Amino acid sequence: MCRRDADATGANLDIAKGREVLPKNVKPLHYHLTLEPNLETFEYEGKVVIDLDVVEDTTSISLNTIDLDIKSSEVHSGSKLITSSPKLSYDENTQTTTVSFDDTIPAGHKATLTQTFKGTLNANMAGFYRSSYKGEDGSDKYIATTQMEPTDARRAFPCFDEPALKAEFTITLIADKKLTCLSNMDVANEKDAHNGKKAVTFNKSPLMSTYLLAFIVGELNMIETDAFRLPVRVFATPDKDIEHGRFSLELAAKTLDFYETKFNSKFPLPKMDMVAIPDFSAGAMENWGLVTYRVVDLLFDEKTSSASTKQRVAEVVQHELAHQWFGNLVTMDFWDGLWLNEGFATWMSWYSCNEFYPEWKVWQGYVTDNLQSALALDSLRSSHPIEVPVKRADEINQIFDAISYSKGSCVLRMVSKYLGEETFMEGVRRYLKKHAFGNTQTNDLWAALSDASGKDVEKIMDIWTKNVGFPVVSVTEDAKNNSVHVKQNRFLRTADVKPEEDKVLYPVFLGLRSADGVDEELTLDGRERSFKVKDLDFYKINADHSGIYRTSYSPERLQKLGEAAKKGLLTVEDRAGMIADAGALAASGYQKTSGVLSLLQGFDTEPEFVVWDELTARIASVRAAWVFQDDKVKDALKAFQRDLVAKKSHELGWDFKESDGHIEQQFKSLLFSSAALSGDEKTKAAALEMFEKFKNGDRSAIHPNLRGGVYAVALQNGGEAEYDAILDEYRTAKVADERNTALRSIGRARQPELIKRTLAMALSKEVKDQDIYLPLGGLRSHKEGILALWDWVKVNWDTIYKKLPPGLSMLGSVVSLCTSSFTSEKQIQEIDAFFKERSTKGFDQSLAQSFDAIRAKDGWLKRDAEDVEAWLKANKYL
Ligand SMILES: [Zn+2]
Repeated sequence: MCRRDADATGANLDIAKGREVLPKNVKPLHYHLTLEPNLETFEYEGKVVIDLDVVEDTTSISLNTIDLDIKSSEVHSGSKLITSSPKLSYDENTQTTTVSFDDTIPAGHKATLTQTFKGTLNANMAGFYRSSYKGEDGSDKYIATTQMEPTDARRAFPCFDEPALKAEFTITLIADKKLTCLSNMDVANEKDAHNGKKAVTFNKSPLMSTYLLAFIVGELNMIETDAFRLPVRVFATPDKDIEHGRFSLELAAKTLDFYETKFNSKFPLPKMDMVAIPDFSAGAMENWGLVTYRVVDLLFDEKTSSASTKQRVAEVVQHELAHQWFGNLVTMDFWDGLWLNEGFATWMSWYSCNEFYPEWKVWQGYVTDNLQSALALDSLRSSHPIEVPVKRADEINQIFDAISYSKGSCVLRMVSKYLGEETFMEGVRRYLKKHAFGNTQTNDLWAALSDASGKDVEKIMDIWTKNVGFPVVSVTEDAKNNSVHVKQNRFLRTADVKPEEDKVLYPVFLGLRSADGVDEELTLDGRERSFKVKDLDFYKINADHSGIYRTSYSPERLQKLGEAAKKGLLTVEDRAGMIADAGALAASGYQKTSGVLSLLQGFDTEPEFVVWDELTARIASVRAAWVFQDDKVKDALKAFQRDLVAKKSHELGWDFKESDGHIEQQFKSLLFSSAALSGDEKTKAAALEMFEKFKNGDRSAIHPNLRGGVYAVALQNGGEAEYDAILDEYRTAKVADERNTALRSIGRARQPELIKRTLAMALSKEVKDQDIYLPLGGLRSHKEGILALWDWVKVNWDTIYKKLPPGLSMLGSVVSLCTSSFTSEKQIQEIDAFFKERSTKGFDQSLAQSFDAIRAKDGWLKRDAEDVEAWLKANKYL
């Protein structure tokens, strides 16, 4: 396919330049792969037979391998043996093995490469790896499983490990007869193999990319449904209650049916299996027909889990199933197109949630959730464009971030609003039909959407995907002429935009809300423009916040908008989005923080959960930036939070009834925790009473929706006894979700001895590597913990680095958890000095983002520390 002319839309980024890819002299057609894992020695034997099209005259074949011991190689062309003793060379840098031979295979011929090899079932959650669980007798038991995305299929077997090199696969697994063997396809036949084992061969797959392959061998329980036209099953290891997969199983069947209709495209595989894996680095992986999940993201107990857990599971299941079409059937041609996969699956999961659970009002949550995480990361200088050039394997893991997922999905939400959801879906249907079993680039989606809508989608959207950042739209008014003036500039959280960083002009959909409704047509194409409004008394920009930008109003206008909110003139999305904008703009110097605090104060009678979610998030971000400030000021901010939330929390109460809706449950939980943690006596006493009963053995004393909040209050007000009780819950609870809540909480304890124990836990055998971030996260809630985290990283760096190799994105997460809570330039220098002497490969971007975030807080404090203090005094908190 021909690339779009790079200059056609003013974008100057050639993302294909510099890609490190395999030579194009041969093309894989079919793999027959046989693997025999040994769950005792953690080794496996493998054999791969790859049928190739010879595209150019060929004397060598290069393919990807890593950490594989190749035992033998043979090359055939037709029935002719070309070589059985080729020269093998390995390039560590590109993770490529080259098989060279003397005879030339001419272009246009076929060839077959056969290799036998030995590999290790590693403990690093990448490639073909081992995952452990406890047997009934307490012993360690293992399954063998895979995680190939992005570039670890090469760790499992020699292959052409690029998304565009699609081929068909026939997989055979050899294992003990009592073990379950799974792969992407259904079983073709099962035969006796050597040593009393069985050889399970799966049917040939359709054309697919290597990163979507999966195979699992182990002892697994299963439940099944026939609610979809094809079998849908959920699997888990025997230590789990398989019935906890019932919700996901039924939702998957409904979702597959819904997607088939919506996409007008039949799911092309013969079955859908979903498996809970005890050790899993990501949340879930969309392997075609064999989706793998972190246990908590697939299994949960409706009786003991919170409303937010249920929503998370629903979102993850629907996200992975959306990938079965978007990503698996139609695949990006290289990793710079990752956003297309992830942005779409994220958007689609919410679209689907909205279909099945309209009462969850997920599009409201989208404004406070996805939009905010996108805008937060993209306000850093160290962010990256949605379409980002990636050359090498070790750069790829770093782009599985809020830009690809959240900003990607926001861009799609924006275009779906612009075209209308039905037209957008028609475009998606055309895109899937045209490119089924193939590979695409971003402009192929724009072309399909243009085709369906008659509008030039590429012209508008290219600017959004090819550039880093987003604008802030400043609004001024001319009362005499009844006109509004808008101007766009690049928004940076550090508020230090240089002229050369402010050149991109975005097509901004202004979405003007006035008393007459919303004007969707109004756009800002250039730097600035003025337009008339009928009545300056009430208007607002970015109705429902489907546009990707912040809006900066004058303090007077912001106050008027606060009043309009009270009068019911603004939607929930408008109110939440407006608070988010005001908070972010204050943090970066566009407005005074005192103005935002006054705005928040005015929302004390707000009736909606989503708005409160944003209100409390904004107070939390002020308190986080002020964490190293004087205790008196910190206490005053805490008192302000208490004043704002306590009344509403008392009004809602903290008893849960059968009749409570999904949102109401989360609403009660949010305000109860926020009030009790900010020292409100009534909620605090209630929390401590619940905990006391729980400590004395009454496990039902704390409602699942309150569990995290009550643990936090108990640790804030208690000591070792409370800590031990929560730790015991982590050690003994049956459901993964309950254990996680406990582990996530212990970091809240701030006594030096307890902090030490939390940090020791993180590296102990008791915490799986996949969960290391859980105990660390809680430590970020207090000054003592933030300081201890950094000391811990310095002392244990070599251990951490070994435990979480840089190829896994988890190392970056740990670095960011342990550094980004700091707030001063001096602290940046200290961190920088430490990492200067070490390799930052695989997490350099996380580190740069931490520095930007700290720098932004440093600037914020310098600008507004006095302003905040004055406001707190004026409002009698200080
Ligand atoms: Zn995904």
